[in-house]
Amino acid sequence: MSDYTLHSHGIYQIRLPMGNPPWMNSYVLPDGDGFTLIDPGFNTEEIVAFWQETGPRIGLDFGKIRQILVTHHHPDHYGLAGWFQQQSGAPVYISTVAKRQIEGIWGEGRRLVPLFLDTYYRNGLPQLLVEQLREQWDSSISRVLPKPSLTVLDEGGKVRVGDIELEVLGIPGHAAGHNAFYSREWQAIFVGDQVMPDSLPDTCYVSDEFDTNPIRSFLDSLDKLQPYAVQLAFPGHHQPFSHFAERLEKLRQLNAERQRKVEAQLIGGEWKSAYEAYYDVFEPVPSLVQKRFHFTETISRIRYALSRGIIEQTVQEGVLKYRYAATEGDTRNDEQT
Ligand SMILES: [Zn+2]
Repeated sequence: MSDYTLHSHGIYQIRLPMGNPPWMNSYVLPDGDGFTLIDPGFNTEEIVAFWQETGPRIGLDFGKIRQILVTHHHPDHYGLAGWFQQQSGAPVYISTVAKRQIEGIWGEGRRLVPLFLDTYYRNGLPQLLVEQLREQWDSSISRVLPKPSLTVLDEGGKVRVGDIELEVLGIPGHAAGHNAFYSREWQAIFVGDQVMPDSLPDTCYVSDEFDTNPIRSFLDSLDKLQPYAVQLAFPGHHQPFSHFAERLEKLRQLNAERQRKVEAQLIGGEWKSAYEAYYDVFEPVPSLVQKRFHFTETISRIRYALSRGIIEQTVQEGVLKYRYAATEGDTRNDEQT
């Protein structure tokens, strides 16, 4: 159902065609005699055609985009930033940590790709799938081209949009370096993929360089968002929603349930890799990308359990294996501490 919706304050929600999830939200905000664009989507022929058709329908002159804000580095959010920058000359704002990941994944030398693939292999992903992921990564680089020039915008920063101000909140968890943009005047938040109205966001582990404990970060970010007065939250996928504070609480519950499921896989004395634990928790999915999200979320959950001292780790033939460390004073239901 790609199309668009006009919300209060002149905010356009543009639903870009995607597949799974069915669409990705980009937001166009009135900004004086121009526009602010949040999360432009990724570079596919279908999405570019969609923008070219939809832009004129909502009065969006690409040359009048004054700034492009990107919540996080995932290609479905960041990918078209360079394409829009070429047409507008607008600055592209993103966090320091997101910029470093973009440079490492798609920049000169692509130093992070072998590092990530090695992490997957060490966590039990079969070599065949490691190779398929490498190929997929190589072939999908066009989705983030052309490369924009990036301007860093971190926690505590502020951005003017017309008469209002957006505050920048650093909310890692779903992705390291994830920003949200909050307007006190509108009581609105552009929250990217960190808070979804009807699903638990992926919390993928990528590397200690960016986040040693993504589940801990995710929970801390939910706590951080709790005091903000929000009438309407604008997520990266699915529909905008109210009842923000209740949604944060629900996500804590869903997260705890998922965490228990993963930890339950490690009870029984048998050593298991993250891949083996993943396999027994998540329903099979056809897409390799989706599989990677679930598998790397399992790594995050195992690291969260490790950080609470309830599982132990060993290495067998180069692969990290884990099992439940049953001790007196069992703390397995204690994941909120
Ligand atoms: Zn994302």
